[in-house]
Amino acid sequence: MRFTSTRGDAPPVTLSQAIRAGAAPDGGLYLPDRLPAADPAALDPALSLPDFAACFLAPFFAGDPLEPELAAICAGAFTFPLPIATLADGRRVLELFHGPTGAFKDFGARFLMECLERLGDPAHPLTVLAATSGDTGGAVGCAAEGHAAVRAVILYPKGRVSPFQEHQLTCWDEPVRAVEVAGDFDDCQRIAKAAFADVTMTERFNLTSANSISIGRLMPQMAYQAWAALRLFTETGTRPGFVIPTGNLGHGFAAVYARAMGAPLGPILLVTNENATLADWARSGSYTPRASIATIANAMDVGAPSNFERLIALAPELREVTVELVDDPAIKARIVADHADYLWCPHSAAAAEAYSRLDPATRAERPWAIAATAHPYKFADVIEPLIGKTIAAPPALAAILSRPSHKDRIPADLRALAALLAAGSMVAV
Ligand SMILES: *Cc1c(COP(=O)(O)O)cnc(C)c1O
Repeated sequence: MRFTSTRGDAPPVTLSQAIRAGAAPDGGLYLPDRLPAADPAALDPALSLPDFAACFLAPFFAGDPLEPELAAICAGAFTFPLPIATLADGRRVLELFHGPTGAFKDFGARFLMECLERLGDPAHPLTVLAATSGDTGGAVGCAAEGHAAVRAVILYPKGRVSPFQEHQLTCWDEPVRAVEVAGDFDDCQRIAKAAFADVTMTERFNLTSANSISIGRLMPQMAYQAWAALRLFTETGTRPGFVIPTGNLGHGFAAVYARAMGAPLGPILLVTNENATLADWARSGSYTPRASIATIANAMDVGAPSNFERLIALAPELREVTVELVDDPAIKARIVADHADYLWCPHSAAAAEAYSRLDPATRAERPWAIAATAHPYKFADVIEPLIGKTIAAPPALAAILSRPSHKDRIPADLRALAALLAAGSMVAV
């Protein structure tokens, strides 16, 4: 299996090379050069998630140096449960927040780190450089902890993340360094981009990225959605519909791709917040990226979803989706309306609201799974005032709070970042 760029202007590469590179050199995103067909033997609902993932993803790894490692990669990545809850009114919820940092980003970050650990060299480790304002940085830091051939350096903007978010970025041990940048999120992204564009720095520090365009983050999302679809299909005899809160379109694209590969998945309803790019495209057929708008479902605040390029690279009959836009007042109303039965995070609430807008006949046709992408505790500042109650931390997030925190501080400047990368072990603050 070879991987080619969505822009068609870069040489084909192996899976290992695509994972190591992140984006293609022509600015496009890597996809397999032909659609891998799922091995029918892989579609066994009796398999555990790691075993299922190893079968489902085998075609991607065929012929790659990582091929013999696939089972171990899956075993190291899928270490927590993925329940499909049933609510009192029959709604189904795909609970993706049982990982160590309480959001579905754990799946992608852990799988990618397991791959990078096997592609790196402990004598000269890879460095994952990530600029983050939200869930990704915590998931990447957690996933990198304890590795030898890959380290993580996470840049975050001073004073722009919530106290819990900061703790979740700064609580990981070697080889993870959390770096507070004196600037805003755009400054963090600017210096990360400048570092990647600097050949001397990328080579000296073996820089690599963990952002959501990495094929190494998409594959595990394809696998768990195929697994969940298969479980619901086996239970009900009908292909389930998925309702997916969408930002960069990583999760949503992975569902579309898993379906194209043969997973028994029915309609896919992508749900956005007030960032209307995808909803406008679905309505008008024309795609116009724009600047992002801040909403309470902030992990979905994306005006130019990067994985859109991958979606339109698929044949039209394979990429059918519908899009529903849910604004902040509707997200809040959904959290309030449902909280006695189920507590949604703002992203998951957007999906629950979109599901409730489906017409009853469409809902009755099949099981529908609403993706719950983060634990509500992570958004307690938004939710508690709405419901008038405090939210208890689940065990994984309570464990994060009990860890000591340490960070480095730099000005928003590339030379300061280079000096930090060159310095040895981290300094406790
Ligand atoms: C990242 C994220 C999303 C959006 O996922 P994409 O793959 O970017 O579309 C939704 N909900 C939560 C909680 C997230 O962290």
